[in-house]
Amino acid sequence: MSKELVAKPLVKNIYQGIRDEVENMDRKPVLSIVQVGEDPASEYYINSLKKKGGKCSIEVRIESFELQTGADQIIKTIHKLNKDTSVDAIMIQKPLPAHIDDFEVTLQIDPEKDVDGLHPLNVGRLVLGRDGFVPATPAAVLELIKFYEIRTEGKHVVIVGRSDIVGKPLVNLFLHKNETGNATVTVCHSRTNDLAGITKQADILVAAIGKAFFIKKEQVKSGAIIIDVGINEYKENEKVRYVGDVDFEDCYDTVSKITPVPGGIGSITTAMLLNNVLIANKTEKKNKKVLT
Ligand code: NDP
Repeated sequence: MSKELVAKPLVKNIYQGIRDEVENMDRKPVLSIVQVGEDPASEYYINSLKKKGGKCSIEVRIESFELQTGADQIIKTIHKLNKDTSVDAIMIQKPLPAHIDDFEVTLQIDPEKDVDGLHPLNVGRLVLGRDGFVPATPAAVLELIKFYEIRTEGKHVVIVGRSDIVGKPLVNLFLHKNETGNATVTVCHSRTNDLAGITKQADILVAAIGKAFFIKKEQVKSGAIIIDVGINEYKENEKVRYVGDVDFEDCYDTVSKITPVPGGIGSITTAMLLNNVLIANKTEKKNKKVLT
């Protein structure tokens, strides 16, 4: 049996599920993406959302702004989208330029349309284990765990990376009292002492670091399961390719299971974001008093 935890079969299921539901809807779900400036990684993600969204009848609209656009104009647009009943979901494409405060902008999104799950209300819901939007990448990690029936209960999960979009939500999700939780969780970062001493204790190691080939076999316990969230541009003989935070080839013989890059968490993330758009379409907008 292959050790590779490939995304393809579960991604297929997710899109099929979305298509089946959308088919029976009176109106197609709509995602509006607010994009400020241009950035190759953002372009790639947006194009992929458009393409995959198109295939399952989710409309993706782009509100595009020049890099120097002020926060006021972005906030005005968010308020307009909050009120627009044809828009189910709003996403602010990151990174935003330095003169715009991410947090202040995110606060303006109607939490019931916040498919990135970054509004404090959704962050709080996630911490408390209540229904709300789970950010797409952590949601992708859980979906993979469910699909491959990986047992987390009582396991030591070590997460390397403490970002707001990956590490922090995952810590909380692995602690929930459910089938993908009940783990003992350790989170590491750039100030962690003896990183290898900790990662070597992991039954399940999640890498969300942003450094190509960072995790080597010396940092991994024999038989561990590795989930590689990293997507890093890597230049080799003038050719650019995308690689993970884990040195896949180096670790392969040591681990029991490992996600590939590409073909792993990245493609599930796009599917989970679109699944959040579907959820937003189905959710009755409880928060009637949207910010205007
Ligand atoms: P961030 O840069 O926000 O966070 C990186 C984390 O790694 C930080 O907590 C940082 O520590 C930690 N770190 C950096 N260097 C070290 C080190 N030497 N030792 C230990 N920890 C270290 O990145 P993101 O969370 O946004 O993304 C992480 C990776 O995942 C990237 O490759 C990104 O491209 C990818 N990604 C993939 C997605 C997908 O869909 N698959 C979606 C989002 C991201 P500190 O906090 O101390 O700085």
